Amino acid sequence: MAKVLLVLYPDPIDGFPPDYARDSIPVIEHYPNGQTLPTPEAVDFVPGEMLGSVSGELGLRTFLENAGHTLVVTSDKEGPDSVFERELPDADVVISQPFWPAYLTPERLAKAEKLQIAITAGIGSDHVDLAAANQKGITVAEVTYSNSIGVAEHTVMQVLALVRDYLPQHRIVLDGGWNIADAAKRSYDLEGMDVGVFAAGRIGRAVIERLAPFGVRLHYTDRFRLPSDVEEKYGLTFHDDIRSLVKEIDVLAVHAPLTDDTRGLLNDELLATMRRGAYIVNPARGAIADRDAIVRALQSGQLAGYAGDVWFPQPAPADHPWRTMPHHGMTPHTSGTSLPSQARYAAGTREILEDFFAGRDIRPEYLITKGGGYAGTGAHSYAGKK
Ligand code: NAD
Repeated sequence: MAKVLLVLYPDPIDGFPPDYARDSIPVIEHYPNGQTLPTPEAVDFVPGEMLGSVSGELGLRTFLENAGHTLVVTSDKEGPDSVFERELPDADVVISQPFWPAYLTPERLAKAEKLQIAITAGIGSDHVDLAAANQKGITVAEVTYSNSIGVAEHTVMQVLALVRDYLPQHRIVLDGGWNIADAAKRSYDLEGMDVGVFAAGRIGRAVIERLAPFGVRLHYTDRFRLPSDVEEKYGLTFHDDIRSLVKEIDVLAVHAPLTDDTRGLLNDELLATMRRGAYIVNPARGAIADRDAIVRALQSGQLAGYAGDVWFPQPAPADHPWRTMPHHGMTPHTSGTSLPSQARYAAGTREILEDFFAGRDIRPEYLITKGGGYAGTGAHSYAGKK
C-alpha cells in the first residue's frame, strides 16, 4: 500500500468556506482542442467546493483510504523540519500545486527513496527538478488543460488593467476621491496596440483568440509555428525568437514553461530593446523574469506596467520587491486555481492516481517525464526542439 504526500495551500484565514458565492460551476463539455475533461471512475467532492486548500484535500481521502493507502496532507513545506521534508523519505507519491509548490530539488529527490510519481495538481512542473527526476526514473505528471482558460482570462484582465490603469483608478474611489485627471494621466486604449505572445501553447493560443477582438495587431513566437490557417485567421506575425518579438510590441504576454532556455530571459538587456512604456503580463513563471531588472525598468519608465501572478520563490516573502514596485498589478498565484479549475485538477489528479495504482498508462497529455526521459506533453513543451 502506498503513502501519498499531498501539499496544499493553507485554508482561508477566516476558516474553510461554509458556503460559496454561486451554487454551481459552469459546465464545459471538452477543452478547446477536443481533449476530454478528466475521466476518473468517480469523485468524492462537489464541484465548486474549495478543494485546493488543506481541508479540501483535493477530495482524495475517501478514495485513497478505502483502497488501503495512507494520505498525509500538509501546507508545511519549507526547511528541514517541515512536515513535507519529514514525511518525504517513505512517500511513494507526492502531489503538490504550482500555487504552493513543494520544491523537489535534487537533494530532496535523493532523500525520497521510495518516490515513484510526482503529480502536479495544476499545470507547470518546474518545481520538480526534472533532470534529477529523469535520472531516478520518477514519473512526473500534471493535469494538462485543467486551468489553461482561466489563466488566459486572468491574462486578458491584467493586460486591460495595466493599459487602462484600472487599479489606481479603483484606489481613488476607495479613498473617496473624484480626481479624473489623476486617473487619466496614465490611461491608454488597448485598441491599435501591438501585442506579442511568447509561446503559443494552450494558454498562449487562448490569449491570442481572446485578444483578437480588441482590434490589436498580434505577434507571437514559439519553437513550433502555429498552422498557417490559424496565423491567417488572427492576422498573426510570427517572429523567430523573443528578441525579434519584443522590439515590435507594446504589450508582452508570457506563456512559456520555465526551462533552462527561459530562466532569467526578461533581463535588463532584453527589456532595453522594448518600446519605452511597454507592458508585460507574465502568468507563466516568476523566474522567467530577472526580478530586479523588472523593478529597474518600472522605476526608469522603460516599462509602463508589469503584472502576472507568478513569483519566485512561492509564497513570495513579505519584502519581495515586486510587492512594492511602481505600476504593477500582481496577484498572488491565483489565475489557475479558480473553483472550476480546482474541480478539474482534483478530478484529473484522481484519474492519474487511479491509472498509477492500477498499473495502466497515464494519458500522454498528462505526462511530463516517464521511465527516465521526457514524455507526452513534456517531450513537446519542455524538451521539444524546433
Ligand atoms: P503548453 O505546453 O500548452 O505550451 C507551452 C508552449 O511553450 C509550447 O508551445 C512550447 O513549444 C513553447 N515553448 C517552450 N519553450 C520555449 C522556448 N524556449 N521558446 C519559445 N517557445 C517555447 O503549456 P500551457 O498550458 O500553455 O502553459 C504554459 C505555462 O504556463 C506552463 O508551463 C506553466 O509554467 C504556466 N502556467 C501557469 C499557471 C498559473 O496559474 N499562473 C497555470 C497553468 C500554467
